[in-house]
Amino acid sequence: MPQAILCDRDGTLIKDEHFLDDPARIRWISGVLSLLKQFSQAGTKILVVTNQSGVARGYFKLDSIEAIHLQMQQDVEASGGAIADFYYCPHHPQGRIQTYSYPCNCRKPAPGMFQQAIEDHRLQPEKCWAVGDRLRDLEPAIELGMKAFLVQTGYGIKEQQNLYEHIYKSQITVISSLTKLLRIKNGEGKFSDNPN
Ligand SMILES: [Mg+2]
Ligand SMILES: [Zn+2]
Repeated sequence: MPQAILCDRDGTLIKDEHFLDDPARIRWISGVLSLLKQFSQAGTKILVVTNQSGVARGYFKLDSIEAIHLQMQQDVEASGGAIADFYYCPHHPQGRIQTYSYPCNCRKPAPGMFQQAIEDHRLQPEKCWAVGDRLRDLEPAIELGMKAFLVQTGYGIKEQQNLYEHIYKSQITVISSLTKLLRIKNGEGKFSDNPN
């Protein structure tokens, strides 16, 4: 049982709506709410770690992110789970909004948000899992000592093509969706999984 699961947001928890700026357009990926409930009720902290460069690019403001995360928290609580924290990076090195347009230490694959989560929640990285639909969601987590899962939802199928030559390929487990983590939690054999 992991101490915490550090989840990417778009394409991993909810459908990737390409710069989602409205809570009304949140679409949960099938089975995810139930999975979050089961892990949070078993004592695993659920943490969301997400790049939101739409702020730096001028597509939306911080308020939109906050509203989306509030709605997500309400959805998760309504189904019996909880999200312990949200971490987001509003930056982009080549954005339009000057305040947010610089190379930061939090935009994944930089480790800033993971390090902050470790500090805030006193995490032991070797007891934590990271999940995402892009390799950049997993690279900082692996470097910090976490177990990493690439989901095939969102951008994941495409991203899987980049896995074969990746330096961390032996440390990344491909799963069809976040919901497969439940089998792994229950110790049902192998980590790897086929899409069908
Ligand atoms: Mg994603
Ligand atoms: Zn940042």
